[in-house]
Amino acid sequence: MSTPTEEKEPIFDVAEFSSFELFSPDVDGTLWFFKDLLGMIETARSGDSVFLRGWHDPYNHSLKVTYRKHAGMGFAGWRATSKPALERRVKAIKETGRGSGWIDGEVGVGDSFEFTLPDGSVQRIHWDVDYYRAPDDEQSVLKNRPQRRPLTGVPIESLDHLNMLAKNVTHNKDYFAELLGFKLTEHIIFGDNVEAGAWMRTNTRSHDVAFTKDASGRGGRLHHVAFLYGNAQHLEDACDVLTDRGLELEAGPARHGISRAQFLYVFEPGGNRIELVGVHGYNIKDPSWEPVRWEQNTLDSAIIWYGSPLPKEFDTYGTPNYEPTGYRTPSKHPQAHANDYIAAEAAMLL
Ligand code: FE
Repeated sequence: MSTPTEEKEPIFDVAEFSSFELFSPDVDGTLWFFKDLLGMIETARSGDSVFLRGWHDPYNHSLKVTYRKHAGMGFAGWRATSKPALERRVKAIKETGRGSGWIDGEVGVGDSFEFTLPDGSVQRIHWDVDYYRAPDDEQSVLKNRPQRRPLTGVPIESLDHLNMLAKNVTHNKDYFAELLGFKLTEHIIFGDNVEAGAWMRTNTRSHDVAFTKDASGRGGRLHHVAFLYGNAQHLEDACDVLTDRGLELEAGPARHGISRAQFLYVFEPGGNRIELVGVHGYNIKDPSWEPVRWEQNTLDSAIIWYGSPLPKEFDTYGTPNYEPTGYRTPSKHPQAHANDYIAAEAAMLL
């Protein structure tokens, strides 16, 4: 037999990435992006925060937008598979000394246990939720839909996955593996045996969370949070609508080799990088899956399977962004980029 040896009994205590807090210095702009262009539905407001959900998100909300001077992530919220599963994870997290304590429930999410990763990014785990109940005039005839598909923008269905910039990918990956039971799907190893990226899953999707090495050396920052638009025919609409509203697409549409995910990256007006996912790459049902290892000599295919190369700032720009930069920031776009391009074009022709 060639079955790999499983040393530890797997943990199935975390079900899904179910909520995310996004900091924005331009809440009105961020809400315009998510509500008007991507069809998310506002479900509540509280203090400096606005709560939103995609039309297929089952709970009260999946996204919490909070005003902060700097863009970035507030917390990532993970839903446990059961109440005993939550208790097991909390006990294990407490033993690592990384637990910050229980956070009172808010707007449709019950009490959550908060903890920080080795790089400092804040995570929460919870069980209790309020399910979304659509008003009568928004009920779908399709009983497996939480509501009818909205007619606003190019509507995203749901929160999808999270990618965090890490000072040390391995430390954060190990924490997710050992404390939360995530399985490693694919990773990038540089020549000096430094892990430069790790894509991990809770169940059969190729990834629910990823860590990539923070070229700035800081770590604990948001690289991107992703939302699923699902229908393949929405890709062209999304590109068209976003571009026509002055939002420059950073990269894509194209396809990564890692996870084989079709991608599209865009900056929301608050400065955070958002990924829109159309088609998931592949599923993993093999319980003894051997993680795919990409090394430097195969890196080009790992990053881009087909499509244009990523800009170099894809590896360095994250939020909060500490370096002064004109890189694709809202104030720089769109006319400033157009002028740069026209000037360069003119210089060649004249
Ligand atoms: Fe992604």
